[in-house]
Amino acid sequence: MTYTTLLEEWEALLERRPTFREPLKAYREILVAWSRWSGERLAPLGWTAAECRERWRRGVPLLAETSPVVEPEALEDLLVPAMELLFAAGTDDEALRRFAQAWDRGEVTPAALLPAKGTLGSVTIRERLGLTSEALGFLACGGLRPILEDYFAGCRAHFSDGVWDLGVCPFCGAPAGFTDILESGGRRLACHLCGGAWIFPRLKCPHCGSVDSKDIVKFQAEEREEGYLIGACRNCHGYLKELDRRVRWNAGSALVEDWGSPHLDLVAHRAGYWRAVPTLIDLERGSRPGS
Ligand SMILES: [Zn+2]
Ligand SMILES: [Zn+2]
Repeated sequence: MTYTTLLEEWEALLERRPTFREPLKAYREILVAWSRWSGERLAPLGWTAAECRERWRRGVPLLAETSPVVEPEALEDLLVPAMELLFAAGTDDEALRRFAQAWDRGEVTPAALLPAKGTLGSVTIRERLGLTSEALGFLACGGLRPILEDYFAGCRAHFSDGVWDLGVCPFCGAPAGFTDILESGGRRLACHLCGGAWIFPRLKCPHCGSVDSKDIVKFQAEEREEGYLIGACRNCHGYLKELDRRVRWNAGSALVEDWGSPHLDLVAHRAGYWRAVPTLIDLERGSRPGS
């Protein structure tokens, strides 16, 4: 999957949902920045299958025990559209300015954006700069994808179904961003931060791990669209949107479908649920309950 393909998918989605073209136009800039990324300046992770699987067996995402060496300038090109989008959302201006100044002084480095233990970005940096978790999470999503995707490119082949059963990405440790129901009926979670994907039990909450069937709820928007669902958990109130690819075989990638369905996020938010990986709606609506 190249980013040019993602851009094409994004355009195709907006053809289907033209009313989103204007409110979601900032996403396009992020995808354009990704399509311009050249990975030449990044050394990919060279771990063997045994080295990767040893971590997965322990339930440790690879990024917990290694870190890409990223030049700040390389990340900056990717971060600019996400920063602009945040400024345009207008919720966190002062904190964003502090972030930009600290970045320019070299006090905040690319490491501050990396996911860890199911959170996006460094909690220390977030608290020091007064950034919301949504804003820092959004910067991480907007800036890191091409970097992490290239970094893990050599390790993808080492992964196989059954070696990982957690709700966070086995590669980078970020929380899941989207659910795909596959042709086989299996459930695959997608990571927006690195492009990772892994099979996960249908009736288990990826956020809190609950397998109690009373906790798991599925619902749709009022205007039903076949194949699109919200899967939520009554125990932790986390949700993920899901797409049944058996009925939507020509849909776009997980990220495109996620970004392109804010109406479903609105439904989930109104029902009192939150998502771990922020989108535009989270920025505009402020913090999730309790954070
Ligand atoms: Zn990941
Ligand atoms: Zn849960």
